[in-house]
Amino acid sequence: MSILVLTTNPANPKLDEELVRAIHAEIGGTVNWLHQSIAIEFINPKAAASLQIARDIIGDTKVDANLVPVLNRRKKLLIADMDSTMINEECIDELGAALGIKEQIAEITERAMRGELDFEEALDARVGLLKGLPLDQVKEVRRERISYAAGGRVLIQTMKTHGAYTALVSGGFTLFADYFGKRIGFDEATANVLEFNDDRLTGTVARPIVDKDTKLAKLQQLAAEQNLSLDDTMAVGDGANDLMMIRAAGMGVAIHAKPIVAAEAQYQFNHSDLSGLLYLQGYEEADLVRQ
Ligand SMILES: [Mg+2]
Repeated sequence: MSILVLTTNPANPKLDEELVRAIHAEIGGTVNWLHQSIAIEFINPKAAASLQIARDIIGDTKVDANLVPVLNRRKKLLIADMDSTMINEECIDELGAALGIKEQIAEITERAMRGELDFEEALDARVGLLKGLPLDQVKEVRRERISYAAGGRVLIQTMKTHGAYTALVSGGFTLFADYFGKRIGFDEATANVLEFNDDRLTGTVARPIVDKDTKLAKLQQLAAEQNLSLDDTMAVGDGANDLMMIRAAGMGVAIHAKPIVAAEAQYQFNHSDLSGLLYLQGYEEADLVRQ
């Protein structure tokens, strides 16, 4: 049995009764609002192609449709990317801004996240450009140029309250991942280590680096440690280096993702914020933990 879940951006909800009626008329199933005007599920839709039918009816409306299995719906492990997933920026681009070279760095970031460049080479090239940046300025970037992605804290707090373990796994840097991971509420964070000499960046990253293999390995390791099947896990990210963990997780979600990631992920959010990941798991408004 499966469930079709529609979600929209809570800050600008586009899920109305008319759209719900139009989809219900075609796919059937039992309708249940998970959060009025923000998330709804169709339990056991009749049509075999209900997902595609729903997406065709939705068209350009800013609503996401995903078809989830009933089995193992609530996940016990979440592994999440940081940059452009749990926070709105790419930290390395913002570090570049501190040196007046944001565009030069952002262009490499964009291509790496699209999977057009080797991740490690692209990381080395960009970090090399940051050589000499003082630690104080790194901390200033962290304080002033980074914003939390909407829905992140409620996602983590709700899953943790219901017994899940949460891990942030970033190809970015520990100076950001440890800091933001802790503030969002993650149980742990893994990221690359920027090297310093005399409180200035040396332009190098400690080995081994955190790349797509590290992210996948972390998912597998944490699942094994907690005696979980991969069916019990959820992964979320936006970049090419997230694709392996997204594919391996029981529920792998591409969020506002690069085309290569969106095309290969089973679950996609193009409009919803991170709280939408809770509705995919069947949480309802009353279950959400906001603190
Ligand atoms: Mg990312």
